[in-house]
Amino acid sequence: MTQIFNFSAGPAMIPTAVLEQAQAELLNWQEQGTSVMEISHRGKYFMDMITQCEKDLRQLFHIPDNYKVLFLQGGARGQFAAVPMNLANNKGKALYLVNGHWSSVAAKEAASFTQVDEINILNSDRMLRVDRLDFSDIAEQYDYVHYCTNETISGVEIFDVPNVGNAVLVADMSSDILSRHIDISKFGVIYAGAQKNMGPSGITLVIVRDDLIGNARQETPSIWNYAVQAKSDSMINTPPTFAWYLCGLVFKHLLTHGGLEAAEQRNRAKAELLYNYLNSNTFYHNYVAEENRSIMNVTFTTDNHELNAKFVAEATKAGLQALKGHKVLGGMRASIYNAMPIEGVQALIAFMQKFAQENA
Ligand code: PMP
Repeated sequence: MTQIFNFSAGPAMIPTAVLEQAQAELLNWQEQGTSVMEISHRGKYFMDMITQCEKDLRQLFHIPDNYKVLFLQGGARGQFAAVPMNLANNKGKALYLVNGHWSSVAAKEAASFTQVDEINILNSDRMLRVDRLDFSDIAEQYDYVHYCTNETISGVEIFDVPNVGNAVLVADMSSDILSRHIDISKFGVIYAGAQKNMGPSGITLVIVRDDLIGNARQETPSIWNYAVQAKSDSMINTPPTFAWYLCGLVFKHLLTHGGLEAAEQRNRAKAELLYNYLNSNTFYHNYVAEENRSIMNVTFTTDNHELNAKFVAEATKAGLQALKGHKVLGGMRASIYNAMPIEGVQALIAFMQKFAQENA
């Protein structure tokens, strides 16, 4: 069988070693004679597992002690609503920095709950570029400032942290969480769906600074209320136990492979290889400025739609799956999250070279 490399944007690859471990212990987890899916989430074994899971994540991501870690449901989109419900409670307005699809959707959702001011920070004159990150002059008028660190669809990543003075900074890190080290102390809330770099879909990580908990507006549903969830170990209702367990395996896996420092090195090496190839020819184009080129989602296109469709079809046959770009953008997208080995990127480049020769 041809070796398969899966470039899906999410749900995305999970490390093979993690899937093998899950497979090996599927029918008999922790010598219980049952799977992890079939036991009480309040029992000792599950509680021990989630305690270890949080400990590993704190170590991996260097999460300071004054932050709570929540594992919730509803995806990142759930947080688009939960963030304003929990934080927009004083000044009654929030600032949304928009640099692509997801940050725009987040702003629209928040507008149902609070007054939203949007600032477009994407300069799309020639290459997509984020050229303004200092909002310290206006940020303090707002309950919080929200942005998206990595726009998954266009492959625009913001590596520097926006300057918001003493205002609360909130980040949607769905598609670059755990891909590189970040200084968490600069953030009030960080959230991310699990299905790109942490595990399967169905579970959402929320990291929230202690002083921001407990001010949710009164009508906030308990499943979205950070204070309620923090008090009940993220278990105000039955959690997605299997997804949580798999995230725990992924955190352990990352820790035993050099932590985020090593993951970042691997990610930068993979992205550099692919962008260097894109820079080296005129058959494929990428329209993101160097400093905002995502190390997770690499977008590219040929000169026409038919050729793009042919590329995707032939790549799929060659074992390179899920390279079709998102429908709002078209073209191609290679999502090269933590679990993608460098061999996958090498195989993609070899295919791109061959395709370019045959179709130039
Ligand atoms: N934000 C970003 C950056 C995303 O990439 C996605 C999903 N691709 C979302 C939010 C929405 O996530 P979910 O499907 O978990 O609600």
